[in-house]
Amino acid sequence: MPGCLLGGGTFFSFSLGMACRAAKLPVSSAGGATEDGAGRWRAEGRVCAWVETLRKARRVAWVGMPIAPVPTIKEAMKRTELTKRYCIAEDKQFRLDDIRPGDTWKLKSKDQAKEWLEKGVARLSELQETLYAQDQWALLLIFQAMDAAGKDGTIKHVMSGVNPQGCQVTSFKAPSAEELDHDFMWRTTRRLPERGRIGIFNRSYYEEVLVVRVHPELLAGQKLSPSLVTKDLWHERYQDINAFERYLTRNGVIVRKFFLHVSKAEQRERLLSRLEQPEKQWKFSLDDIRERKKWGAYMRAYEDMIRHTATEYAPWYVVPADHKWFTRLVVAEVIVEALESLELSYPKVSRAKKKELAAVRTALRINQA
Ligand code: ATP
Ligand code: MG
Repeated sequence: MPGCLLGGGTFFSFSLGMACRAAKLPVSSAGGATEDGAGRWRAEGRVCAWVETLRKARRVAWVGMPIAPVPTIKEAMKRTELTKRYCIAEDKQFRLDDIRPGDTWKLKSKDQAKEWLEKGVARLSELQETLYAQDQWALLLIFQAMDAAGKDGTIKHVMSGVNPQGCQVTSFKAPSAEELDHDFMWRTTRRLPERGRIGIFNRSYYEEVLVVRVHPELLAGQKLSPSLVTKDLWHERYQDINAFERYLTRNGVIVRKFFLHVSKAEQRERLLSRLEQPEKQWKFSLDDIRERKKWGAYMRAYEDMIRHTATEYAPWYVVPADHKWFTRLVVAEVIVEALESLELSYPKVSRAKKKELAAVRTALRINQA
């Protein structure tokens, strides 16, 4: 991965440069640490402390170690500020109204977000390579939203730089007869990402406390004994989902959930454009209008769901979705943040393996292999 090598080194020099500046030490024109008169690196005292902090916080590699480049501290702080704004982890009082679908934080236009989004997508691609190589963790991303909120477009754009081999997307529609013959988690469990992969659920088991709650008649098709269908059903499902997500987390599957929060007015515009533009007409479904009429019931179901299933280990992100460019930016940053929290690294090559590689390389060079 030459890109990673170069990037890692570049960032390292930059970080060291930052550390020097912060410690008020001279910085060399190369942007790295300065040398003292005797020509020795002044990697001591305050500089060392700074570098150590950086390394610990971000697993910065020493020059030459193959690891993906890491954002600057300033970039990381900006990201945290953005993602925290929409993160719900344990909040029984959460109100959907507290997050405006048209919010764009401090950003005024798509152009202001462009470079940031591009960087995020590139960083995501690098982190995914490391995730894949390390083959220890998996990331499960769940997308829920009203129709036309932009799930498909967000997934397409945010994951555009990712190697398709490391990513599995599954869209969950109304369950089939076979799926209805099983417990409600069955079909989604079969699609969980393997270690080293990113799994994306376009809709998920959360439909079981959303569309099924708004249309309780769907429960009849689930072949549940009447003794199991009590007034506690929805809370029992929340409990089961929370337990399942904790189980996943404890098994190395990181869970991040997105509710793309579009306004009713913006949905109307998007449905109209599906009707008016020939190349979008295939996307239009009369069901979208049927569900739109139940907007209030859906919002109550979403709010209740988020209150009961937002946890520290599997938070919900309520992402403003009236501006597609902003939705994409937030989603990309949340994913980058989640992957960075894993402190990923490429598998270490043992001494014996290195010897073996060197021997093969020599043989290949002299054309004997
Ligand atoms: P778009 O945003 O482009 O409309 P979509 O995800 O809504 O995409 P559709 O094919 O339009 O895809 O709709 C899938 C439908 O399947 C949704 O209405 C959803 O509520 C429904 N569905 C998903 N899971 C379940 C479930 N467990 N029970 C009943 N209906 C479900
Ligand atoms: Mg739909």
